[in-house]
Amino acid sequence: MSQLPINKFNQSRALAVNMKKINPLTLIILTAIFFMAFDNITFFQEVINVYPLTGFQSTLFIVSLALVFSCVNIIILSLLCYKYTIKPVLIILLLLSAACAYFMDTYHVIIDDVMIDNIMKTDRGEAFDLFSFKQFAYLLFLGILPAIWVYKVPLTELSFKKSVLSRLSLILISLMIAVLTILSLGNYYASFLRENKSLRNYANPSYYIYSVGKYVGNKYGAVSDIFTPIGLDAKISPIVPNRELIILVVGEAARADHFSLNGYAKDTNPKLEKEKIINFNNVWSCGTSTAVSVPCLFGLAGKSDYDNTKAQAIGNLLDISTQAGVNVLWLDNNSSSKGVADRVDYQSYKTAETNPVCDVECRDVGMLANLQSYIDKHPTGDIFIILHQMGNHGPAYYKRYPKEFEHFMPTCQTNQLEQCSSEEINNAYDNAILYTDYFLSETINFLKKNDDHFETMMMYVSDHGESLGENGLYLHGLPYMIAPDAQKHVPMLMWFGTNIDKKEINIEQLKQKSNQKFSHDNVFHTVLGLLEINTEVYVPALDMNHPND
Ligand SMILES: [Zn+2]
Repeated sequence: MSQLPINKFNQSRALAVNMKKINPLTLIILTAIFFMAFDNITFFQEVINVYPLTGFQSTLFIVSLALVFSCVNIIILSLLCYKYTIKPVLIILLLLSAACAYFMDTYHVIIDDVMIDNIMKTDRGEAFDLFSFKQFAYLLFLGILPAIWVYKVPLTELSFKKSVLSRLSLILISLMIAVLTILSLGNYYASFLRENKSLRNYANPSYYIYSVGKYVGNKYGAVSDIFTPIGLDAKISPIVPNRELIILVVGEAARADHFSLNGYAKDTNPKLEKEKIINFNNVWSCGTSTAVSVPCLFGLAGKSDYDNTKAQAIGNLLDISTQAGVNVLWLDNNSSSKGVADRVDYQSYKTAETNPVCDVECRDVGMLANLQSYIDKHPTGDIFIILHQMGNHGPAYYKRYPKEFEHFMPTCQTNQLEQCSSEEINNAYDNAILYTDYFLSETINFLKKNDDHFETMMMYVSDHGESLGENGLYLHGLPYMIAPDAQKHVPMLMWFGTNIDKKEINIEQLKQKSNQKFSHDNVFHTVLGLLEINTEVYVPALDMNHPND
């Protein structure tokens, strides 16, 4: 500040205001009101979508929700904030809530335990993809500046007795206000709490605090880390002399309805359309995020019994294949195998050290570069290779393909999707699909070169779909129950070389099933069948290639 004594009175008054001590509980109430006023735009938007502001009652309900959630926040903060924890807790929550508000307001995502798992498993490149000036503004005005104020403001010291009593009264009064408000608008709250449960998922910060608790509970809770192998009886019949070479491509965020193979108006699969592939047009993902779908895809549990923590502690398709003597290799141009390939050969292709095809980022096709030498180095046994694509990872779709694949134009050239038109977003997304079409056809070409020595096959399936702005939704990761089909309906296709055993694999029969409904649950058993592995965990009815289903 200026040192000139222009207006000593005003200056000293300003300092006095700055330095004025406040009661810790007042700080809690102010922070709770701040959260409600600035970090919950999406929450109120979602609520107003369901309960439009048509009259006095509905307006009163929206106002009452702000009151109830402020009371809930006050109760949560009163339980977390004590003499030594109040400032660190409030500062951390202000920063986290600002980040959550940005992601919810921009992408309409929900910060649940699955999303937290995704964030924990996201690498720096992906995080940078998401960074923007808008995010910086959110962090500065809703996080950093209020956090600095919380850091600086002096608090009054209360005696232990007074502190406990006033805290208890604050909790009780907040609880009473919340309960009375809920009772006085009973009809609205009955519907809000029963039929529209999912709206609570947008409440900031209460929902992510709950989610962090759930995530930590899942991760470090009762389930132990003891690894349980399955399918220990897995064997390949010695009567089958031919060697299998199977490539399973795990796609990223590709939606079925953007494949021209599935009838999309734009020609996004020009190369695959020329190959003898079998396209399955009615396939549904296990989850709506990589962290769920990828472990689920390789697990025995299937969608109905899937549990993230258990999936990490139990043997999967790759372990069973290894057990049966198959050479298993996982190449990854995505973030990781999400624990699936922890016990098999694994190589990241995210950097130029391993991937020879890198421009602004390393390309999926680079994963094919060293495959021949891997195959040549394994002269016996079947070979099962998994290629985990970068695919259509959002929001920066325009970065997911080299320039020569910019076929559909104009494209969205920013990660701020809401700044682009629907056409621009779709064009950038479809160019990335076009690049996947090229990558898959290159994978097929690679297998063709090995056709003389192997029974070659390729299977492609995406991990989940993607929302491209329909109803204001972007990206993926919504809870399965409320996620739109765009996030769950995934492309899947198979290609077979000329040497396959026609008695084992009935191409005509598979073609007849191309409209049949399948899901990620089928992949585990179909691959076991293709590899001709006999094991007690194999369920023929789930094998897409099995004649009896
Ligand atoms: Zn994914």
